[in-house]
Amino acid sequence: MTVRKADIIYVDNNATTQVDPLVVETMVPFLSEFYGNPSSAYNFGRQVAEAIDKAREQVAALLKADPREIIFTSCGTESDNAAINSALLLNPSKKHIVTTKVEHSAIKNQCEFLKSQGYEITILPVDAQGRITPEQVEAAIRPDTAIVSIMWANNETGVILPVEHFAEIAKKKGTLFHTDAVQAVGKIPIDMSSNKIDMLSISGHKLHCPKGIGVLYIRRRVSFKPMVIGGSQERGKRGGTENVASIVALGKACELAGERLAEENTRVKALRDRFESEMKSRVPDIYVSGDETLRLPNTCNIAFDFVEAEAVLMLLDQEGICCSSGSACTTGSLDPSHVLSAMGLTPARARGAVRFSFCTYNTDEHIDKLITVVPPVISKLRAISPLNKNHPDNENYDIAKKREEEEKLMNQIQD
Ligand code: PLP
Repeated sequence: MTVRKADIIYVDNNATTQVDPLVVETMVPFLSEFYGNPSSAYNFGRQVAEAIDKAREQVAALLKADPREIIFTSCGTESDNAAINSALLLNPSKKHIVTTKVEHSAIKNQCEFLKSQGYEITILPVDAQGRITPEQVEAAIRPDTAIVSIMWANNETGVILPVEHFAEIAKKKGTLFHTDAVQAVGKIPIDMSSNKIDMLSISGHKLHCPKGIGVLYIRRRVSFKPMVIGGSQERGKRGGTENVASIVALGKACELAGERLAEENTRVKALRDRFESEMKSRVPDIYVSGDETLRLPNTCNIAFDFVEAEAVLMLLDQEGICCSSGSACTTGSLDPSHVLSAMGLTPARARGAVRFSFCTYNTDEHIDKLITVVPPVISKLRAISPLNKNHPDNENYDIAKKREEEEKLMNQIQD
């Protein structure tokens, strides 16, 4: 069955975003008319190189960076991997990395792999609001720390971390600092001219650009060893013939993101806030994750107690509503989100967590529909849920005891 975008309400913008029609318009000529190789010496190729230069300037403008600091990659994951890879290659005697418990799998799984290769990884815990303190970062950095990698904003909860402050600490201690800013760029202002972050990752498809394009910002005069080794593209920092159409698209998407930043923080935030407060007043037993003030303007992660998020998603899908859960379905069992678990949510509560993430395409009518549809879906599921304390078939169901057992298990895991 084909589901068309006209039939849905899309509130899963931290997963991916609709490609903006203006972005499509900008990229199409580079899929048809201007197919030259940007490295070619003739004008037909050179004009393509010029289009890449323009895109580099557009990305740099959004970040208040120098265009020479922008390296195009294939995605956010590659940018993350390349940053850490470079730090390790540049400092072969340094075998220690500092990161956090709430990173995206692009960093989390790379660090797990590096651990299996003999590196030591310090994984900083977060508090119940998803926060990390500068003191934690300072205490974790050692003389043999090759890099500190801490995300700017969390993809599941939207919690914003004070990475500019962390970067200053890393600088003082002589350690490289990288941030995964995939969720932050375009949602909050970023000014690379006024901070000490060495490397920063971006992903196009979170910015109304197609999938399969990313950026690694590398501060001028910060040494870098490429991960993709080949031709001299991207000033020798990333081999491979450029994905021209997507690069041009990302340039346009960054220009639009800059123009829409104010709207993200006013109208989109107001939509999110209205949705969140309506949920709080209409649905009992819910828990909103993440620091209330230091949160992306578009993100709302709600744990609905006594239901499984997967069931909520299924019923909302039937209503044409696209949102997501923090759980990863692995080997037939639902693992609760590592981010929510790190914030101290019990596995039962974390398994009921649903993320709603908005964007400038969302409207008041979308929120009207959500607040009409979501509460009855939750009531319906609670009425049949074996987790429901009030379920008639489960009069003696001891939810408090189950929670206690799960908390005990969590403490054991954390120890
Ligand atoms: N980092 C964060 C915080 C993300 O949310 C994502 C995508 O979900 C990525 C990295 C990976 O980006 P990409 O899908 O472009 O590889």
